[in-house]
Amino acid sequence: MLCNRLVVDVHAMDFIFNHVRSTYPREAFGVLLGYFSGDAYIVKRAIALEKGYSSEFSFSIDYREWLERVLAGVKQGLCYIGMYHSHPDAEPLPSTEDVHTMIQCPGEVWLIVGVWSDGRVEYAAYTIPGPGCGIARLVVEFL
Ligand SMILES: [Zn+2]
Repeated sequence: MLCNRLVVDVHAMDFIFNHVRSTYPREAFGVLLGYFSGDAYIVKRAIALEKGYSSEFSFSIDYREWLERVLAGVKQGLCYIGMYHSHPDAEPLPSTEDVHTMIQCPGEVWLIVGVWSDGRVEYAAYTIPGPGCGIARLVVEFL
């Protein structure tokens, strides 16, 4: 069954909102860990990535740090669900660069959080379910 919902633990979402606000006006990014259940991706933990590079318009991860965080999650019984990152002063729509990266990582969930100077946040989640598939928007829910 294809997953079309992203269910995020409220504590993990709080962590993400705090991270994107504290990193503003640069982009913040991190990994989403959890499990799969029926038609949903369940996010139990979000972990910030601190190395890599980010500006107001882009980010790039340190792959060694990414792998360390994912493997630490696997040791705790959690699966890699995907990435979150922020769009300072911009809507949570995938950029051209985001889409290019997503095409290389089919099956990954991308949670994007728009964040503004007054602390307001807007979020949306996307995935490219498999090679050759188009981009799909996921319904985001909290648990
Ligand atoms: Zn982006």
